[in-house]
Amino acid sequence: NTATLISGRELARQIHREVQSEILEMVAQGYRRPHLSVILVGNDPASHCYVRNKTRTATALGMSSSTVFRPESVSQDELLDLIDSMNRERRVSGVLVQLPLPEHISERAVCNAVAPEKDVDGFHIVNVGKLSLDQRCMIPATASAVWEIIRRTGIETVGKNVVVVGRSKNVGMPIAMLLHSDRRHERPGGDATVTITHRCTPRPQLKEISRLADIIISAAGVPHLITADMVKEGAAVIDVGINRVQNTTSGELCLVGDVDFEGVREKAAFITPVPGGVGPMTIAMVMKNTVIAARNALIH
Ligand code: ADP
Repeated sequence: NTATLISGRELARQIHREVQSEILEMVAQGYRRPHLSVILVGNDPASHCYVRNKTRTATALGMSSSTVFRPESVSQDELLDLIDSMNRERRVSGVLVQLPLPEHISERAVCNAVAPEKDVDGFHIVNVGKLSLDQRCMIPATASAVWEIIRRTGIETVGKNVVVVGRSKNVGMPIAMLLHSDRRHERPGGDATVTITHRCTPRPQLKEISRLADIIISAAGVPHLITADMVKEGAAVIDVGINRVQNTTSGELCLVGDVDFEGVREKAAFITPVPGGVGPMTIAMVMKNTVIAARNALIH
């Protein structure tokens, strides 16, 4: 009895169809197409790849999009000015600054410069605060992706044990925030019992906790962190890790998650692959956030 493979690509297509029909409806009602503006600093290939995926998907779904490229040496002030002009442009529905940024720039200052209602990454301090208070807000795309995967697969969360491996403010924290909170609140939560582990959690402790988990969500960026002996029979395992590793035999660079996929799939009831799991869903949720932002600011 191997695990049911959750296809992030298939679920993403579902979301794409929903987003697409919402855009068609907006256009049919005489409103402007949603527009996504992206700022990309430097030449990290992974960042370029993510941005290309987002802008291509936006176009495919009927939005317009544009990317502003700046070199590694860009000043923080120039970025802030750029964001400010995007904030003020009415036709821009969503503004996204691809992270990470170079050392000399404060990511916090940059995230806080984006108008909260255009903040499709959900990283503005007001959106982070609202998320923590269970208020309606822009939810970070990776966390929404995990949430939608769980919901659309029909995995129960109420009263269940969930372990979130990783506590980053952009990924682990918002995932834990959605899953532990109250389903009756303005922004409904998963009502799960959530344990957050991180780099200071001793491995034996992580194993003890994960073996009790009905859902394991790993966002640590550590290949092979989650092995079969750490997984309860019948658990759902969601792999948020994106690790570029060199294949030992072919020498090729390839993508792996945090989960030892081949081992864990023999034990789990549900598992997400890498690639093709959380990744495509994350992009779909950025699209959804952009349409939500456009809906909240309809313009002719
Ligand atoms: P991301 O943005 O994908 O969350 P980061 O590198 O910012 O990636 O964060 C990785 C997170 O994973 C950190 O919170 C770190 O504490 C956690 N982490 C790293 N190693 C382990 C480990 N062995 N066990 C549990 N958590 C870990």
